[in-house]
Amino acid sequence: MWKSNNIETNAIHGGKPSQGEHGPLSTPIYQTSTFVFDDVQQGADRFAGDTHGHIYSRLGNPTVDELEARMAILEETEAAAAFGSGMGAVSAAVFGLLKAGDHLITSHRLYGCTFALFSHQLPALGIEVSFVDLADEQKLRAAIQPNTKVIYGETPINPCLTVIDLDVIGAIGRERGITTIIDNTFLSPILQRPATHGIDLVLHSATKYLNGHGDVVAGILCGSRELVDQIKMTTRKDMGAVISPNDAWLIIRGLKTLHLRVQRHCENAQRVAEYLQGHSAIAKIYYPGLPDHPGYRLLGSQMQGAGGVMAFELQCSFEQAVAFINQLQLCKRAVSLGDAETLIQHPASMTHSTYEPEELAAAGISRTLIRLAVGLENAEDILADLDQALATIA
Ligand code: PLP
Repeated sequence: MWKSNNIETNAIHGGKPSQGEHGPLSTPIYQTSTFVFDDVQQGADRFAGDTHGHIYSRLGNPTVDELEARMAILEETEAAAAFGSGMGAVSAAVFGLLKAGDHLITSHRLYGCTFALFSHQLPALGIEVSFVDLADEQKLRAAIQPNTKVIYGETPINPCLTVIDLDVIGAIGRERGITTIIDNTFLSPILQRPATHGIDLVLHSATKYLNGHGDVVAGILCGSRELVDQIKMTTRKDMGAVISPNDAWLIIRGLKTLHLRVQRHCENAQRVAEYLQGHSAIAKIYYPGLPDHPGYRLLGSQMQGAGGVMAFELQCSFEQAVAFINQLQLCKRAVSLGDAETLIQHPASMTHSTYEPEELAAAGISRTLIRLAVGLENAEDILADLDQALATIA
């Protein structure tokens, strides 16, 4: 299998199997649920793992295989597993690695459904969960218990863009024999590759930048062959959050332009962040591309760019913040990120609506906090739309 030293080239060619009979440029979509065996022995050998070959698409499919091979190359890991959603990847990872009596360390600052899974579903099954500030090494070390099996984080973190130091998390994991998982959705492998900082499993909601066109829900997990195979053959196989071959194909297509799209998302977001920072209606802005953001120090080392997502608080009442969002015309009121369209949402009533008021406070989410996922439009048009809507609350 061909591999370059350049991520842009690997995003286009990486993981492609040899040409096959017809030599298609575009990967074929193997739209099949099952695979035919020549005879009983061949079926038995495949089930026993004695020979390679597909069995049934919940266990593996050639189109999905290509997506997984390409993602492993991009994230610089040995292997990858694709899922039917980002949450499918999160739950397959934690249910595959944890059992009753084990302990997970994470942060209050998480994507809302990941937080719901960790704060409600895991404890109900006897798995202990501690929420600590993962950006604080001392607090993280103090939270480790003899039964700690997993440290799970996002960086930059939903929705205030807090950045955690991956070298610190990776080093603690290795030193203490704890599996580390990082959700890399916000930056994509173009801007950040957690495995190169010693992280064991890298997770994506592939719904976002990887696909990039707002038409697929999917997830990816990248890591060592051993960990990925373990998850594929237990929780992915038995809980069944598999991706369809058609959706895998759409993500393979999305990956071909990932580097161009991410570059433009970053350029547009930087323009928007600088504009908002200078606007009198803005009380606070969170974007790691601005020098006064604490995550800025890791730009150029851990992160090769600040990404396309930012959050800000308006200097106004809750009702005025809602009126501002409703006034926007180009920017679409929608959750998600990483799409061509600029998307705006209100975390307290949308992505983080499962949080109790004290949990919102712990995660730094006020009622006037707004999240903006800057798209690929001409930056002038995005600025003009924000400007006209801000004028209504001035
Ligand atoms: N992780 C992050 C950072 C997210 O933003 C999301 C969804 O918004 C998820 C995971 C869950 O992904 P999905 O919606 O594809 O299940």
